[in-house]
Amino acid sequence: MKKPYFKYIIIGAGTSGLHLIKSISEDKFFRKEKILLIDKSLKKNEEKCYSFWEKGKGKWDEIITKSWSNGCFICKDHVINLDLKDYKYKMIKSIDFHKHVIKSISANSNIEFIKDDVINIRKENNQVIVVANKTNYMCDHVFDSRVSNNINLNNHISIKQHFKGWIIKTEASKFDSKTFTIMDYRIRDTEKTAFTYVLPISNNKALVEYTYFTKELVESKEYDLKLKKYIKDILNVNNYSIINEEYGVIPMTNYPFFNHTTDRITKIGTAGGWVKPSTGYSFKNSERNSKKIVRQLKKGVTLIKVKSKLKYYHMDKIFLDVLEKNNWFGEKLFSLLFRKNTTNKIFEFLDEKSDFFSELKIIKSLFSIHFVKSFLRHLFTGLKAN
Ligand SMILES: Cc1cc2nc3c(=O)[nH]c(=O)nc-3n(C[C@H](O)[C@H](O)[C@H](O)COP(=O)(O)OP(=O)(O)OC[C@H]3O[C@@H](n4cnc5c(N)ncnc54)[C@H](O)[C@@H]3O)c2cc1C
Repeated sequence: MKKPYFKYIIIGAGTSGLHLIKSISEDKFFRKEKILLIDKSLKKNEEKCYSFWEKGKGKWDEIITKSWSNGCFICKDHVINLDLKDYKYKMIKSIDFHKHVIKSISANSNIEFIKDDVINIRKENNQVIVVANKTNYMCDHVFDSRVSNNINLNNHISIKQHFKGWIIKTEASKFDSKTFTIMDYRIRDTEKTAFTYVLPISNNKALVEYTYFTKELVESKEYDLKLKKYIKDILNVNNYSIINEEYGVIPMTNYPFFNHTTDRITKIGTAGGWVKPSTGYSFKNSERNSKKIVRQLKKGVTLIKVKSKLKYYHMDKIFLDVLEKNNWFGEKLFSLLFRKNTTNKIFEFLDEKSDFFSELKIIKSLFSIHFVKSFLRHLFTGLKAN
């Protein structure tokens, strides 16, 4: 039987796959090309909350749940108010994002969305065969968001961002819905970088998330204990209901995921290294990287590796090294960052759009014995990037 043929196949209708199909669908250049999006699940009920920052109006404004112009960072001895200037911190539900993109691409007759489980992909001459449960598909180029099985993080700096979040609803009005909390270190897990993150959706509804940046995962009950303690002792809330729960484990590593990309098989999303190593954010990176891919495709490029600039690679690596070797120091490190720099400069830096003087200022602000040790370790192990 002849295999169905497509110009491009995107494996995974998750964050990166949806961003990519949306960017491709918006460009007339691809109107005549047959494109397939495959996912093993239809995600009708999945509800995760993604947040990100951007200046002013953005591409997803019509479907965001909430945005904030004010934020704060809290540690044991002080509160730092974050002045976002032109930036807004925004929250979007994964299900809204999914429905929005699927609906908008369904207007394009050249794009198909199929539920199928991809088992394998292989190259044959200048084409790629996608072997899936129902059938095999053929294409010129595949974008694959499945994380490869043969990833060995042992020789790389690697911790995990892992968290459990509850959307809680309180009886009384308990939240200042104008201000989100990026990190609150008042409920600590000793010797670890662990904090609470709070996104108030309204005066009586908020996402409260207990997050670790650590090497090892913890048992589910640990997050529950910390969440309950935070809600009771810090938020002073006794009566509430949990209306949604989310759990996530995100790699924070300098592992060169992009090396799994080969000619005509481009790894995307977490599998392609689109997660910012020092923060675990990837929603906005997926939007930016999808645009980069579209530009490359239009030029006819078939080996598409999307990487950070070298200077950001090195800075992420040093930052991760501090957290990996001195995990208890995270609170101090992030408090130096937020205390000594304006939020808009931090956001520009994390978006890899900073200027030289802001970068110097940020590096200087993190100056501490552990930072210097990591910096020197990095110098001695060689400034080589992967
Ligand atoms: C609970 C949670 C909250 C997060 N919050 C934020 C946040 O606030 N801000 C932020 O920037 N980032 C956040 N992240 C991180 C990040 O945005 C996600 O991890 C992101 O979803 C990664 O995108 P992806 O496309 O690589 O993977 P995914 O979104 O996981 O998509 C992969 C897709 O591939 C499909 N798939 C897998 N295997 C196959 C197969 N064999 N065949 C077919 N399909 C397959 C899956 O069904 C899935 O739909 C969060 C992550 C989680 C888990």
